[in-house]
Amino acid sequence: MGGKVPCPCQPVTMHTLHPLPHFPLSLPPQKRSPMTSAKYKRILLKLSGEALAGPSGYNIDPAVLEKYSQEIKQVTELGVQVAVVIGGGNIFRGVSGERSGIDRVQGDYMGMLATVINAMAIQSSLEKHGLYTRVMSAIKMEQVCEPYVRRRAVRHLEKGRVVIFGAGTGSPYFTTDTTASLRAIEIEADVVLKGTKVDGVYSADPVKDPTATRYSEISFSDVYEKKLSVMDLTAFTLCQENNLPIIVFNMNQPGSLLRVVQGDSSAGTLIK
Ligand code: UDP
Repeated sequence: MGGKVPCPCQPVTMHTLHPLPHFPLSLPPQKRSPMTSAKYKRILLKLSGEALAGPSGYNIDPAVLEKYSQEIKQVTELGVQVAVVIGGGNIFRGVSGERSGIDRVQGDYMGMLATVINAMAIQSSLEKHGLYTRVMSAIKMEQVCEPYVRRRAVRHLEKGRVVIFGAGTGSPYFTTDTTASLRAIEIEADVVLKGTKVDGVYSADPVKDPTATRYSEISFSDVYEKKLSVMDLTAFTLCQENNLPIIVFNMNQPGSLLRVVQGDSSAGTLIK
């Protein structure tokens, strides 16, 4: 039989109120199992905007969002603190805007706004998986996300929230790779994980050269001397000068992010 319906003349007590629906923003931080097998305590994951687009190269593919959220969730379940920097190349890039007549600085700001759209998409998808999240933007837009404040970002991470950094560095002429290096240094991440379409850094382009071999580990100076492409030079130098290791790995390979975080050297290339 149905439950008792309170008489309308009775005062409303806590017992008569319905429990709150699940809503990540209003809940206390997640209880986490102790970190058992993670090599890193705090990571910064860099994802390119283009990767979010899936095969079409444009817009946001819900299947990719879903896949990435599952990968990120697996890592948070180890107790790892996760910060994410997402690019905007699937929507807009300042350089390509310039080619179609848009002023470069204007185009760069448009590119930064594009990264916020992607950040919000990831946030929404992660929340669907029950994760607590915050988007923090380098350009103030308080109706949609928090402004970036380093101490607050660290606090969110300590509370187990996934922090997604939007709007790049907030300045034109930079990239989201540079944002990833900069934010990682600021929040004292242990490593920058650069999720790509390939499983590491190769001696040559593995698509063009079948003899290309993957490095499991390589030094910053060797990457530089061999002119291997990892990140743009500003981003790369920031990591090198601040002794922040980078791992390049394949974000599209299921379980790869987890393996990287667990220290599996076959899952990517460690640059240190
Ligand atoms: N951008 C910028 N400053 C930044 C970060 C990004 O001006 O600090 C702009 C720039 O126009 C860039 C675009 O935002 O092309 C998107 O970022 P990015 O190209 O790094 O995205 P991804 O290639 O990772 O998708």
